[in-house]
Amino acid sequence: MTSNQRVTVLASLLLGLLAWLGWQAYLPERVLPSAVFTTVGRASPTQPTVIFVVLDTVRSDHLSACGYERPTSPNLERMIAEGAAFTCGAVSPASWTVPSHASYFTGLDTPHHGATFAPPPAEYSFVLRDDVPTLAEEMLARGYQTISVSGNPLVQETTGLTRGFEVALHSADFIFDAQLLGRLERALWWHADDRPLFLFLNIADAHEPWPDVPAGLGWVEAAEGMAYDRGTPNPEEPFVRFMRDEMTPEERTALVRRVTDLYDYGVWRADDVLARALTMLEDHGWLEGGYRLVLTSDHGEHLGDRGLLDHGRYLWEDVVRVPLLVQGTEDGLPSALPSPLWAVHARDLARDGRLPAELEPPRSHAFPNTTWQQWFGRGLGESFSVAVWQGDDKLLQTDDAIVRYDLASDPNEQHPLAVPEDHPALEVLADGMDAALTHFGREPTDADAQVIEALKAAGYLGDD
Ligand SMILES: [Zn+2]
Repeated sequence: MTSNQRVTVLASLLLGLLAWLGWQAYLPERVLPSAVFTTVGRASPTQPTVIFVVLDTVRSDHLSACGYERPTSPNLERMIAEGAAFTCGAVSPASWTVPSHASYFTGLDTPHHGATFAPPPAEYSFVLRDDVPTLAEEMLARGYQTISVSGNPLVQETTGLTRGFEVALHSADFIFDAQLLGRLERALWWHADDRPLFLFLNIADAHEPWPDVPAGLGWVEAAEGMAYDRGTPNPEEPFVRFMRDEMTPEERTALVRRVTDLYDYGVWRADDVLARALTMLEDHGWLEGGYRLVLTSDHGEHLGDRGLLDHGRYLWEDVVRVPLLVQGTEDGLPSALPSPLWAVHARDLARDGRLPAELEPPRSHAFPNTTWQQWFGRGLGESFSVAVWQGDDKLLQTDDAIVRYDLASDPNEQHPLAVPEDHPALEVLADGMDAALTHFGREPTDADAQVIEALKAAGYLGDD
């Protein structure tokens, strides 16, 4: 071999090595075998690892941990049996991803943090206000490294939700299962350092698009997967025909059954991904020196009730009643949780390991979106809604009308009752309305426009 040939061979080997390294670095979906990368004793002896998990789109009443007849959450059940504090009666602050996460990261309700759609006649989206501190910023100030890994594409820079995270991994579209765990592995291996860890993890497997349900699970039949056509709706699609009320009763029943099967399988997968993520953290040594895990959901899902599928415009119980769990090695973590509990207190639990002495009243907000009116008609999505809970009382304001539901006797919210003029929760409703009108009176900015682009990329909005 001449020296020139030797140089060529060495250069080829070097290029091959570089290509392999590049492939490793830019193939985030691949799950690396954790045994190869296991490091022991990563957790700080003084500050516990803090893990904040949002199981995206998980409504309480479809968890076996909350009494659902299908075994959708064996891992949550195991954690509860092992002593985790848990409630099925948490209330999400909003009915879709962006405003709920913004509340979890700031402790504020939607009208005060401002990250959501603006009501008509405006039709644009708002970024999280930049003058309110985020949970990640607070954890950073306490000496934590801050990492976010999200299956939902909207937990990203343009929405403002990742402010304070030193590392924020997400994709332009939803990522599920092994893809998400690949990102987590990459975050823990490539990005984590020796400071105590604050990890935010969004597990979006219950959110559509749903994959096929495989045969052989035992509790659900095999079924073909489905993606909702909400960006640029096709009038032939079952989702669109259902929302337009164009189906026969038989077609509706069959679709609701299929969607429920796909959704329940999604909840089961979310529970499974949670367990595998915790195993990965353990393999990396992040649970050894003490940890605190807080888990909730950002909203539920309509599964045919009231002629609705999807989520985002209404505040019925199926969309706002979510789980909340706290578990860990620290002394002083709560051993039980009240119900109803505003899920925004997940932030207090993640930051401090305890609920504040004074709990805020559970409340949710939903803003109108004219796209639903354009696409689905029949008055869908027109209203600005605020709901406030006080015990079993739920006050629901839709535009100017305010009604009360007694959830103890009427859990499906079928019988609206009059509201006494001196009901203490009326003040909270009025405050939310005032703040919303003030905030949404401003002009949209370039940052708001970027959120619209992110929503289009994720399939939430059409291309006009
Ligand atoms: Zn969500």
